[in-house]
Amino acid sequence: MSKRDFYEILGVNRDASEEEIKKAYRKLAMKHHPDRNPDNPAAEEKFKEAKEAYEILSDNQKRAAYDQFGHAGVDPQAGMGGGGFGGGGGGFADAFGGIFDEIFGGRGGGGQGRSNIYRGADLRYNLEISLEQAAHGTETKIRIPTMEACEVCHGSGAKPGTQPKTCPTCQGSGQVRLQQGFFSIQQTCPKCHGTGRYIPDPCGGCGGAGRIKQHKTLAVKIPAGVDEGDRIRLAGEGEHGVNGGPPGDLYVQIHMKQHTVFQRDHNDLHCEMPISFTTAALGGEIEIPTLDGAAKIKIPAETQSGRVFRLRGKGIKGVRSHTHGDLMCHVVVETPVSLTDRQKELLKELEEISSEHAGKHNPRAKSWMDKVKDFFSS
Ligand SMILES: [Zn+2]
Ligand SMILES: [Zn+2]
Repeated sequence: MSKRDFYEILGVNRDASEEEIKKAYRKLAMKHHPDRNPDNPAAEEKFKEAKEAYEILSDNQKRAAYDQFGHAGVDPQAGMGGGGFGGGGGGFADAFGGIFDEIFGGRGGGGQGRSNIYRGADLRYNLEISLEQAAHGTETKIRIPTMEACEVCHGSGAKPGTQPKTCPTCQGSGQVRLQQGFFSIQQTCPKCHGTGRYIPDPCGGCGGAGRIKQHKTLAVKIPAGVDEGDRIRLAGEGEHGVNGGPPGDLYVQIHMKQHTVFQRDHNDLHCEMPISFTTAALGGEIEIPTLDGAAKIKIPAETQSGRVFRLRGKGIKGVRSHTHGDLMCHVVVETPVSLTDRQKELLKELEEISSEHAGKHNPRAKSWMDKVKDFFSS
């Protein structure tokens, strides 16, 4: 049985804060609490619905599962066993299985809810792509779990040739009354779980559920320039609507893989460019990688660590921008390591000659040393 979107039930946005969710739930719970609405099954149903929505959305882990998989992610009966969906699949149903049945006496949403038409929930799919794919755009296929109407029974859940019958326990209302001391409590019918029907001969294809879990493959076009957190909307590929309502949408959320050379900052790219101590001193030419092939950078003589060479237009052209960003190469002068005796000898000789005119050859070191001297003598 399809269910309403939890965010819609609480009347909050999908990015609502924990505080907003709590507030919305309190308001609804106060309004529909059975103590305030005696003998009002509609209010009781709304109360249960809000409670269930709150149970999920107030728990970060369950909320994330719901955002990603919809009801299938948090529904003990839908069984997300398969995995492979955004890396989080499997385990949710097992982890929460049983709890809901105990608290809510089976699935909610029965009774008078049946006449209501709701849009299906939106789903999210996390897609990790490389910097190259983001820069140039790509087309990829994703496989997502989906609950489809059973082909054997066409969604009725009854064996072909048979019909679902009106539930004898609740006479089709989906609700039963229980007497407990002074109180008469309305509860979801335990036999039909609130649907008002029961299936004497369940369909062999779906076990009577009317729907079966399947996977569908969707082609997703990733436009050039996408960045971390961007979302691509696939209209109508979310959860099925309730009672013939329109389906929700599927949002493919982009996550960027770490790149071995470049760090991205919006449309600009940054990279570290280690150069030898000699190249830094004498100058030279360095070949560096860019997203569209190698490029050369002229290193002028006397280049210091920390200097940034900007290659205009070698960054990324954002989805909404008209120009490419830049590539920033940050110079790191590398201190030579694993020196031979001969190399050490040469460096010592260099140092001896240089120290005679330290202010000229190492002005920063000289000026720093002078400041330190002043500091200690004052
Ligand atoms: Zn079936
Ligand atoms: Zn019943």
